[in-house]
Formats: sequence, C-alpha cells, structure tokens
Amino acid sequence: MKCPRTQSELTRINVGKVPVFVSEACGGVFLENQTLALFESPQEERGRALETHLRQFHHALPALDERVNCPACDDTVMLRRFYSPLHVVEIDECPGCGGIWLDSGELPQLQQLILNPKERALLRQQLMSEHRPANIEGMAHLRDRWIKRSDKIDKLFELADYLTRW
Ligand SMILES: [Zn+2]
Repeated sequence: MKCPRTQSELTRINVGKVPVFVSEACGGVFLENQTLALFESPQEERGRALETHLRQFHHALPALDERVNCPACDDTVMLRRFYSPLHVVEIDECPGCGGIWLDSGELPQLQQLILNPKERALLRQQLMSEHRPANIEGMAHLRDRWIKRSDKIDKLFELADYLTRW
C-alpha cells in the first residue's frame, strides 16, 4: 500500500496485535475498518503507543485539503467527514472499505476529544437543560413530530447519540 500524500510505501506494524499502516515519510497512518476506535483513547496503551510511534515521522504537509485516494482500494477517493458531532477534527474515510486515513497530528487531536465521564455528564446536562425534552426518548418523539428536518435538530441527535454511546 502507498501513502496517499507522499506515494511512498506504507510500513505495516502491529500495535497491540492490531495492524496499522504507517507512512514514515509524513507521519500519516491508514487504519482498517473499525480499528480507529481501538486507538482513540489516550488512556489506553495502544492509543498512546501509536501516537508516540507516529510522532517521530511527523511532517507538516502542504495541501492537506486535497482529497486522497484510499491506500487499500484502487481509485477510490476518500470522503472527508467530521470525526464526532463535536465537529472539531475532520478525517478521511473510504466509502469502499471503511478504512480511515489520519494525517500527521490528527490522532492526538482525536484523542483530546475523548471526554472523560465527568465531562460527558456535564455536556449531557448542558444539552438537556438547553432543550426541553428531558430524555432521549422524549427527543425522539419530538423529532418524529418535526415536519421539516432542521439541521440543528440533526446535530443535536448526533450529539445525544454520541453522548449516550458511553
Ligand atoms: Zn478503501
């Protein structure tokens, strides 16, 4: 597999038995479908180990806005999407294989977004007090009655879903 930024060969390493594909030319990394969740917590050894490993190859690249092709799929352009409803970090996801490409420096940014239980409780409280429905079921009813889907409500549900996954 080739690095989508530098076209150099990616190096396969195992981090806690999970294979990842590292670009030693730029510090980017390709993660296969469903494996990002294994690395997003800085509290877990795997997340810390990968972050430390990538840091040694860190290079700030120009033109990060350019779309990249999936290293695993021929001619599939990866889609840019927000990593979480908090809408802070964008990541590249392959619509074909579900793999994720992280540019140099993106993993620590994601790791900073992982909220601890206290922060989640605070955010949930804030969410609930700002919006009338007292629970998620209540919000679902509200959504069903909503005739025109408003963007704001969608965001709210995304956020509620994110918070209740923990
Ligand atoms: Zn792919």
